[in-house]
Amino acid sequence: MSTHIDTTCVQGGYHPGNGEPRTPPIVASTTFKYTSSEQMSRLFDLSESGYFYTRLSNPTSDTVAAKICEMEGGVAAMLTSSGQAANFFALFNICNAGDHIVASSAIYGGTYNLINVTMRKMNISCTLVNPDCTPEELEAAFQPNTRAVFAESLSNPSVMVLDFEKFVSAAHNHGVPIIVDNTFPTPINCRPIEYGVDIVTHSTTKYMDGHATVVGGAIVDSGNFDWMAHTEKFPGMTEPDDSYHGVTYAKDFGKAGYIIKATAQLMRDFGSTPAPINAWILGTHLESLGVRMHRHCENAQKVAEWAAQDPRISWVTYPGLPGDKYHALAEKYMPNGTCGVIALGIPGGRDHVSAVLDSLKLVSIATHVADARSCVLYPAGTTHRQLTDEQLEEAGVGIDLVRLSCGIENAEDIIADLDQALTAAETK
Ligand SMILES: *Cc1c(COP(=O)(O)O)cnc(C)c1O
Repeated sequence: MSTHIDTTCVQGGYHPGNGEPRTPPIVASTTFKYTSSEQMSRLFDLSESGYFYTRLSNPTSDTVAAKICEMEGGVAAMLTSSGQAANFFALFNICNAGDHIVASSAIYGGTYNLINVTMRKMNISCTLVNPDCTPEELEAAFQPNTRAVFAESLSNPSVMVLDFEKFVSAAHNHGVPIIVDNTFPTPINCRPIEYGVDIVTHSTTKYMDGHATVVGGAIVDSGNFDWMAHTEKFPGMTEPDDSYHGVTYAKDFGKAGYIIKATAQLMRDFGSTPAPINAWILGTHLESLGVRMHRHCENAQKVAEWAAQDPRISWVTYPGLPGDKYHALAEKYMPNGTCGVIALGIPGGRDHVSAVLDSLKLVSIATHVADARSCVLYPAGTTHRQLTDEQLEEAGVGIDLVRLSCGIENAEDIIADLDQALTAAETK
C-alpha cells in the first residue's frame, strides 16, 4: 500500500502484532541475553543479525530509524546521538586519511568546523564551493582523491535551496556519492533520494524532535550507490574488513552494506549512540511532524511577507517569497514548502541588532532553531563567531543577518512581538 508522507510519520517503522503494545516499548537495556555462546559468536561475527549491546544497536532506536528510513525512501538507516555524529559518520564511513571531500560552503557552522578543521587533522581535506557556483566551478573542485560531495538541501542559517541536479550530476560524473543534510526541510518537504542523492543525514534535534527536547541524528542510505563499480575508491566498502573476520560490506550485505559498516565499525569504535529513551521521545514527536511542518511553513510565510514590506528590515530571505533568489529552486525541489526559518537583515550595526533582540517578549533568544517555540539567533555573534568576515560572507552569513525560527504559535502574535521590539529598539 502506498501511503502519503504524513501518514508514514504517524505509522511508519513500528507494526505491532496481536496483543503487542500500541506504541514502541522503550528497551532500556544495555545488553541482551542468549542461551548459547555459539549464537553470541555469530552475532559478533555479523553472520547473524540480532542485538547484543546497545552501543551498536537497540530495538527502540531501530524502530525510529526504520520510520525515518521509510519517510526518506531509503533502504537502511541508523540513529546517532547527534547531528554532528551523523555527518561525521556519513563521511568517515567512506573517507580515509589522504582522501578529499567537495562540500558546499553554505552549511551549518558545526559541520563547517567538522569538515574544514577537525577532519583536516585526520588528513581528510576539503574544497568548499559556493552552492551557487557554475557547473564548471563545481567541476574544478574535484580531485583524483575526492570521495564524497556534501551539501545541505536547505542551508542553515541562510536558507539557500540546493540545486540538486547540478550537485548530483557532478558527484556521479566523478564516481562518488553525494551526501545531503536534509535537516531543515525534513522529508515532509523534500526527499533528496528522489533527486538522486545517495545518502541523507539529519540533525533530528531540529524539526524532527521539534520540541527542543532531545539532541540526535540520523543517517539514511538510498542503497543506490554502486560501491563495487568503484572498488579502488572505496576499499573500506569493497575489501575484507580484518576487524570483522573478513566481511566485505558492499558484497556480503548488498544495499545495507553502508549502514552496517557505519554501525559495525564507527558505532563500535566511537560509540555515538542515542539513549533508547531519547530515541523513543524522537519517535513520538515524529508522529506530528507532518502537521507541524505545515504550520511552521504557514507562519514563516506570513512573517516573511510582513517583514518584506517593513522599512525597518532591510531584506528578507525566505524561499517562499516570490521574489526570493531561491524561489524557483524551492518550487522545483520543495513544492509544498521549505521550513519555518527565515533570515532577516536588520541594519544599524551589532548594538542595534542586539537591542532589537533584547526587546523581544514572546520570541526568545536561543541557540536553537526549528522547534515549536519561535526563537531568534544572531549567527555572526554566536554559532558562526569563529569565522572571519570573509568566511562569513562565503557561508552566506552577513553581519546584519538575524535568523528567525517561526514556531507553531499564532502568526499574528509572532508579528506583533517583532513589531514592538523594532519600535522599542529605536528609542533605546
Ligand atoms: C543543528 C544542525 C546540525 C548539527 O546537529 P546537532 O544535533 O546539533 O549535533 C547539522 N546540520 C544542520 C543542518 C543543523 O541544523
